[in-house]
Amino acid sequence: DVAMYAAKDRGKGRFAIYDDALERTHEADQQLGADLRRALDAGEFTLVYQPIVSLPDGAWSGLETLVRWPAGKIGPDTFIPIAERTGLIVPLGSWILRTALAQLAAWDAEFGAAGPRRLGVNVSARQLREPGFAQEVRDALEEFGVRPEQFVVEVTETAVFDGGVALDTLVALKQLGVRVALDDFGTGHSSLGLLRTVPADSLKVDKSFVAGIDGASEEAVIAAAMIQITRGLHLQAVAEGVETAAQAETLCDLGYRFAQGYHFSRPLPPAEVRSRLAESQLARSSMARN
Ligand code: C2E
Ligand code: MG
Ligand code: MG
Ligand code: MG
Repeated sequence: DVAMYAAKDRGKGRFAIYDDALERTHEADQQLGADLRRALDAGEFTLVYQPIVSLPDGAWSGLETLVRWPAGKIGPDTFIPIAERTGLIVPLGSWILRTALAQLAAWDAEFGAAGPRRLGVNVSARQLREPGFAQEVRDALEEFGVRPEQFVVEVTETAVFDGGVALDTLVALKQLGVRVALDDFGTGHSSLGLLRTVPADSLKVDKSFVAGIDGASEEAVIAAAMIQITRGLHLQAVAEGVETAAQAETLCDLGYRFAQGYHFSRPLPPAEVRSRLAESQLARSSMARN
């Protein structure tokens, strides 16, 4: 919790100021914002990668990049919104983009066709509103020698519909050949009519719908409707937050072909991804020999 973090860090003498909730938030933002800036300069952020699998076989179809701040002991749900408010998301996001693409290039070099087919990076509205964003992506892809089709920009539905992101920016990304995924789909204010006009390739159906999917729940009805919509619009659907075998099975029965969640894998540090890729490469080559 942000307020607790600031209070702890600044000592008892500062407690009076936290009487006012508004001021508290502002103070906490300022303090945490400064710590995040310092953490970026000190190289304290790390990246983990969560597999996106195909259903029903569970083979990796790609990975999603997720940022971590081990020293700060708070998750991205807490620090990303502050990085957005303070503007730090711009340099932090550039670091994430470049580090993830460098990582993908390294996996490509080592594993070739057995490497990850696709890598997703979360991009916030604030980054997308930077005038040079598409150019930055283009330059980074070129620098690291990553094919644009391997790269997926994950942008929340809220960023697209309420975040003041110009559709032109998404169009520019699409023109590079980069894929666009609408994240946390179903939680924001999307209009299904507008969805038609958004240049996206896939929808990531929010985990709140997956959580209640078993049985004759309303979530199951919604999850079923969403797969129909994505089909009709020629989009791919990815189910997020799949935690149980029963959920995976229900989603598969509904027609979902891609899923992500603790049931398949937690987000993995790069060394772990590498050993999993090495294992599957070994399995492939022994299959080819037999
Ligand atoms: P997201 O992009 O929707 O990422 C999915 C979140 O769900 C991740 O949380 C992931 O660890 C978590 N998750 C995965 N499988 C399961 C599951 O089976 N059950 C449950 N309950 N959760 C699961 P995380 O890593 O804490 O990230 C939270 C959010 O922070 C992300 O949501 C994204 O909006 C933002 N974020 C994370 N990394 C970045 C980043 O590099 N850049 C930006 N701009 N935002 C990021
Ligand atoms: Mg995401
Ligand atoms: Mg999501
Ligand atoms: Mg989310």
